[in-house]
Amino acid sequence: MKTTLAGFLSFSALLVTGMTGLASADFVQGDIGDAAQNPLATPWTRPQATYKIIDPGLPTVTGDGVSAVQSNVIYLNNCKPNGCQVTPGQDNSATNRSSIPDQASTVTPFAYSDSNWQQVVQCVKDTYAAYGVQIVTERPASGNYHMAIVAGRPQDVQMQSGVGGVSPFACGFINNAISFSFANIYGGSVDDVCWTVAQETAHSWGLDHKFDNKDPMTYLQSGPDRKTFQNTAGPCGEFSARNCQCGGSNMNSHQMIMGTFGSSTPTPPTVTITAPKQGDSVQAGFAIRADITDDVGATKAELRIDGNLVATINAAPWVFNAPMTLGQGNHTIKITGYDVGGTPDDASITVAIGAPCKKAADCSNDTDTCVDGRCVPGEGVDGGLGDTCTGNPECKSGQCASDGSGNSYCVESCDPELDGCPGDFGCITAGTGSVCWPGAGGGGGCSTNNDAAGLSFFGLGLGALLLSRRRRRR
Ligand SMILES: [Zn+2]
Repeated sequence: MKTTLAGFLSFSALLVTGMTGLASADFVQGDIGDAAQNPLATPWTRPQATYKIIDPGLPTVTGDGVSAVQSNVIYLNNCKPNGCQVTPGQDNSATNRSSIPDQASTVTPFAYSDSNWQQVVQCVKDTYAAYGVQIVTERPASGNYHMAIVAGRPQDVQMQSGVGGVSPFACGFINNAISFSFANIYGGSVDDVCWTVAQETAHSWGLDHKFDNKDPMTYLQSGPDRKTFQNTAGPCGEFSARNCQCGGSNMNSHQMIMGTFGSSTPTPPTVTITAPKQGDSVQAGFAIRADITDDVGATKAELRIDGNLVATINAAPWVFNAPMTLGQGNHTIKITGYDVGGTPDDASITVAIGAPCKKAADCSNDTDTCVDGRCVPGEGVDGGLGDTCTGNPECKSGQCASDGSGNSYCVESCDPELDGCPGDFGCITAGTGSVCWPGAGGGGGCSTNNDAAGLSFFGLGLGALLLSRRRRRR
């Protein structure tokens, strides 16, 4: 099967190399740990087992499920007491839909004691201890999560005996995936189940099999009973080394997982409020801008004013507008940023709301202009109102608007009732709100368009005017 990154979504199954079943008889035992480390260079004649790559044949599975890391939660589901119902389709842990089974299926419950289960859970936690993941045994009430089914037998989902586990695999992070570790064929061996869970979960964030008997991505039963993700680059492969399915000849399991989830030692994001500044005098509706940086990624920011949660944003740019209803006097502005693992950091400033401006001259900062009674960075300021832009982050307001005819400017929200844009701007409707747009008003000013030209321009362009404010992160 040709494996290209775009179209490649297949399954990789851990074959049972363990204590039971016919499969083990053919498999490598003994001294493989002492064998040549580079079997590509050294002819390798040991028995080969089947590497299971199954074309799922599901038209909806195209690899589109591969995405940026959206959750660090791994839900271990033992399917007690009634089994786990799964239906075929593109993976969705919350609805028990899985790309693995061919038909609606029931995975039989974990067959061993609660104490055995606790040991499996602890082993999986230990195996992932270095990384920024959360391992839970209750289904999360909301949000994205990986569901690792740790129960049943391969036949429960129409797989052949000898398959120890299976996961969707797509050379990247599959959001809301469901992996299967068929615990009931391992006779209660905590280490074997734990190894399988580690391997199957990691497949769903893009790890291949590794030809390394110390790593849970291995097929080799030699080496330590308890495998741990190795911080060494080495060849992929099952019973011999091969190039990696997702490119390259080497894989480093530890680095891949660290790159996906970061370290378990929380490295909080860094939050800096860049506007306004501590102690600034501002007007109602002022913009609040923050920089949030993180080693893995910032995923959320909350604005609190005087301790009350006002707004939440889930992607950069981290720009808020304070409510117009905020009264005069001092206010505490607090921005809390979160990384993928939910680790927070915050920054606070105090600002004072003074009397609203009527014109630019009322603003204490002489590069500001006045919009609807609030002072905002004006023309001539980089990213100020009316400056050309290609994206939201370039604008002090966090809003870059385009008329669809090649004109893009930094804009400020405005209220058409107030007609409070500066003289050479007009307040026009755009998307769900209104913005100050150059030349759209009757004011003239620096606009070279006369009113008639401006109106006709917007008569054509208005329908195409689009705010990119809500553009989602890829
Ligand atoms: Zn595997």
